[in-house]
Amino acid sequence: MSTYQELLPAIADPSGREILDPATGELVGKAHESTVAELNRAIEAARAAQPEWAASGHAKRSEYLHRAADAVEANAEALAELLSREQGKPIKNGPNAAFEVGACAAWLRANADTPMEPEVLVDDESGKAELHYVPLGVVGAIGPWNWPMMITVWQVAASLRMGNTVVVKPSEYTPLSVLGLIHVLHQALPENVLHVVPGGGEIGQALTEHTGIDKIMFTGSTKTGQAIMRSAADGLARLTLELGGNDAGVVLPDVDAQQIAGDLFWGAFINTGQTCAALKRLYVHEDVYEDVCNALVAVAQQMPMGNGLEEQNVLGPLQNKQQYDIVAGLVEDAKNGGGRVLIGGEPQAEQPGYFYPTTLIADLPNDNPLVAQEQFGPALPIIKYSDLDEAIAMANGLDVGLGASVWSSDPDAAFEVAQRIEAGTVWINKHGAVDPRVPFGGIKSSGYGLEFGVEGLKSVAAPKVISR
Ligand code: NAD
Repeated sequence: MSTYQELLPAIADPSGREILDPATGELVGKAHESTVAELNRAIEAARAAQPEWAASGHAKRSEYLHRAADAVEANAEALAELLSREQGKPIKNGPNAAFEVGACAAWLRANADTPMEPEVLVDDESGKAELHYVPLGVVGAIGPWNWPMMITVWQVAASLRMGNTVVVKPSEYTPLSVLGLIHVLHQALPENVLHVVPGGGEIGQALTEHTGIDKIMFTGSTKTGQAIMRSAADGLARLTLELGGNDAGVVLPDVDAQQIAGDLFWGAFINTGQTCAALKRLYVHEDVYEDVCNALVAVAQQMPMGNGLEEQNVLGPLQNKQQYDIVAGLVEDAKNGGGRVLIGGEPQAEQPGYFYPTTLIADLPNDNPLVAQEQFGPALPIIKYSDLDEAIAMANGLDVGLGASVWSSDPDAAFEVAQRIEAGTVWINKHGAVDPRVPFGGIKSSGYGLEFGVEGLKSVAAPKVISR
């Protein structure tokens, strides 16, 4: 079991990239910047280790994943502190760093325990045909900075379980979290099945262009996803692309505003809004519009934002300056576009840290940039509607489709609306809840391919028919 003070020197590189705490601007540590030569060596070593790993079988690999989960749990406090310092999320309160580390262990165990049997397609007098799922080879896993540990585990656990070896390229904004996680995973896994090459987009690009990569698991922006598709063409690497979203919520007139306000709030503001499948535009029926606005303001007023290491805080800073500027700019657009600020809306006076206050904005037209673009921060536009068809058309009107939600006290009405909304997942009376047994993925420009559950395991395997 390591402490944060022991973990950091084990992963830091004194001559590497400076990583600053987004809450204070202080140095967290320095992270190694990989060269292309190091990347090539990592891919070669992963390839050399893959046949033996593949031959070890599902039961053995599941055992390793459980041991990896044990290692994460044994080092949970050190990992959570590292994550909170580097990413900014509160260490204990709200959906926080400890929650993210716990999710890493949970996803490792769920991937270990998901049954994976060949499918019998035909078994009659004509013969027997079975569909097997065999390892692909080497998986390249590229991740973002918002949930750096959890998303790495999402990519790695399924890949390893299916007999692939993995090379991880973490975000340049949060490399230490991923280096810390992988340092801990290495305590439990055989040598060379899991590699990490910290660095910027150019290392990501070199990874995706490398013809020794059989599959790319990518989570990040739509723009980078498009670039990766082009880069992967020569090697014909398979792709799972978990890309940007702009999730809509549709609130029907029969809701109890007080009752749903807490869940609505966390659906939008989890991780200070820096979550791909967070609620990013809320369509509320005119009958309950003011009630929902007021109830959300009341909840927002009770949610302290500040340094994630101070335990009273439930919301942290934005992770980086670029993201802060995007959010601040979009809120300005909203104010200029006739938005009514219910709470927040003003950048905080000069202070260290990228803190943008929790912001709720009413009365915006649907084409305002704060509604139409993925703001990825703590600013929720609330749009009034009078006709349900119009609300569904607005929800479906963008070229994204990651998550969405419907809020109603009538389960049948909610289900009917859910069927009409275009998204990879539609939640009813909640938003953003993921479960390692339930597939997750986007449609439209939010990407394609599924993670989690049996579908997630299949996505990192090659289907192979044996017919006799
Ligand atoms: P990003 O696309 O800027 O970066 C993601 C990763 O790609 C980083 O590791 C980066 O170094 C790497 N990269 C950059 N250029 C590359 C290239 N040309 N080739 C290969 N790799 C390259 O995304 P971000 O800003 O880190 O993350 C935020 C975005 O991620 C948001 O749009 C969010 O919606 C999305 N996201 C999606 C999901 C999901 O499950 N769909 C989950 C989390 C985040």
